[in-house]
Amino acid sequence: MQLGRFPRTRLAHGPTPLEPMERLGRELGGPRLWVKRDDCTGLGLGGNKTRKLEFLAAEALAQGADTLVTVGAVQSNHVRQTAAAAAQLGLACEAVLERRMRSPADVYARGGNVLLDRMFGATLHFVDAGTDPAAACDEVAAAIRRRGGRPCVIPTGGSTPVGALGYVQCAQEILTQATDLGFAVDAVVHASGSAGTQAGLVAGFEGLRSGVDVLGISVSRPRAALEPLVHALAERTAELLGVAGGIDSARVAVDSGYVGPGYGVPTQSMIDAVGLAATREGLLLDPVYSGKAMAGLIDLARNGKWPARANVVFVHTGGAPALFAYQSLFDGS
Ligand SMILES: *Cc1c(COP(=O)(O)O)cnc(C)c1O
Repeated sequence: MQLGRFPRTRLAHGPTPLEPMERLGRELGGPRLWVKRDDCTGLGLGGNKTRKLEFLAAEALAQGADTLVTVGAVQSNHVRQTAAAAAQLGLACEAVLERRMRSPADVYARGGNVLLDRMFGATLHFVDAGTDPAAACDEVAAAIRRRGGRPCVIPTGGSTPVGALGYVQCAQEILTQATDLGFAVDAVVHASGSAGTQAGLVAGFEGLRSGVDVLGISVSRPRAALEPLVHALAERTAELLGVAGGIDSARVAVDSGYVGPGYGVPTQSMIDAVGLAATREGLLLDPVYSGKAMAGLIDLARNGKWPARANVVFVHTGGAPALFAYQSLFDGS
C-alpha cells in the first residue's frame, strides 16, 4: 500500500494534532479519549474535505480543468473547502447548493459557510430539496463547456475512491502519532455522511492490518443504507491501492441512532454534546456532523461500549463555521 504513487496537491496543514481529551474522558468515566484535529487542516477554516481535495484537485489539474464543479447542502463544508481550494489553485468554482433544510433564517441562507463560499469567489446555484445532485452538476458543467471552459465535477462530499485516499492517509497518520504518544488505538469514531471518510479510514486501517475498529455515526442515512455504501467504496478504494483480499464487510460499522429527525435537523443530544465539548475541552464542534457524532460517542461511552482502559480516537471532521448559521440554538435566545 503506497500512497506516494498517487498525484497529490498539498492543501492541508499536516499532520493535524492528535490530542488527549482528559476532562471529557474523566467526566464520562472512561475510555481514554483522544481527538484527531482534522478541523485544523487549515484550508479555508479546515475540515475533512481538505484531505480528499488534495487527491481530487491533483486529478482535476492533471485533466487540465479550469473549473471545479461540486454540490452540497446550503451550509456545506465540502463546498466551502472546494471553493477555497479552487481559489488557492487559481481555478474557478461553481457549486450547486441544495435547500435541504426548511430553515427560514436569513443567516442559514447567507451566513456561515455561504458567506465563506462567496468570499472565496465561488459561483453559487441554489436548487430545491430533492434535486438530483449528479444531474445538477452535469448541467452546470455542460453550461461551462458551452462557454469554452473545462469543468471537473467533484461529486457529493468528494466521496470517490480517489477522494477516500485522503482518509487512508489519515489512518496512517493516526497510527504513527499514537505510536509516538505511546498508545495503541482500539477504536476510531467519526461523523459519517457520504461514506468517503469512513471508507478511506477502513481501507487504511485494514490495509495496514492494524485491527482498529472504525465506527461511523451516521448524520443522515439509516445504518442499513449507509453500511453497504461505505463497504462498496472501501472495496473500490482498497482495489485502487492494490490491497489484496478486499474488505471484510464485518469491518464496516455504522450507528444511525443519533441522526434524530434528519440531516441537519438539531437534536437535544447534539446541543448537549456541542456544549460539553466547548466547556470541558475548549473544542468547537458543529451542529450537523461532529456534534451528532460526539453525541453518539458520549452516549456509547456512558453505556459501557468500551472498556475503561481502551483508547478511543474521535476524528473531528470540522464544520464549526456552520455554528454561525445555527446561532439561535446556542446563544440562549
Ligand atoms: C462532510 C462532513 C462529514 C462527513 O464526511 P463524509 O466523508 O461525507 O462521510 C463529517 N463532518 C463534517 C464536518 C463534514 O463536513
